[in-house]
Amino acid sequence: MSSITCSDCGLRFRFSREEDNCVCPNPLCCKEQPTGLEGRIRKKIEKYVNLDLPKMTVGRAVGFAAAIYEFSTHNDRIDVGSIENRLQKRTGMQTGMEKSSLKMIATRANGGLVDNRTGLMIYVISGTTGHTSWTTAFVVFRGSRGTPGGDDENPQGAGWDDSTGESHNLDWAANFTNAQVPAPWRRV
Ligand SMILES: [Zn+2]
Repeated sequence: MSSITCSDCGLRFRFSREEDNCVCPNPLCCKEQPTGLEGRIRKKIEKYVNLDLPKMTVGRAVGFAAAIYEFSTHNDRIDVGSIENRLQKRTGMQTGMEKSSLKMIATRANGGLVDNRTGLMIYVISGTTGHTSWTTAFVVFRGSRGTPGGDDENPQGAGWDDSTGESHNLDWAANFTNAQVPAPWRRV
C-alpha cells in the first residue's frame, strides 16, 4: 500500500500499488486522481512486448486515422504529402513514398440512419526504400462523433442523420451507454 494526498480536499489516504487511478474516500469529495504509478504499471503489464515496430507504417496509420476525422468533421483535405513530411521530420529519414492513391471512400449507415460524412477510406501507398520496393494498403475507419453538427468541433455534422428534420446520432448506443440499447426515438 502507498498513500496519497487528495488534490482537492487534502485528505491523506491509502491505495494499492497496483492502481494507476484512485478515488478519494471522502464521501463529500470522491475526486478521481492518478496515483503517479501509471508509468511503472504500464511497464510491468507491457513487459512481454518486445516488438520492433515498423515506425513508418505506424506513423502513416496514425496520420490517416487523424485525417479521416478532420475530413469528416471539417472537410479538411487529406494531404498525404504532409503526413510524409511530418514522418520525415520526426524520423530524420527519407520516407521513400512515390505514389499514393485513394482506392475507396464510403459513408456510414447504421440501423436505418445514414451518416453522409466519410466513414471508410482505403489508401494504397507505394515507394522504394534502399533497393526494396514496397506497397502498403491502409484501411481507415472512423468511429463515432458525438459532438452535434454545426458545433465548432463538428461543422459538417459527421455522425448524425438529420434527414427527418430531427438530428439522430448513428452511434447512440455505443456512445453513451456502451450497450446495445434502442435509442429513445425508436422506443414505442
Ligand atoms: Zn478528496
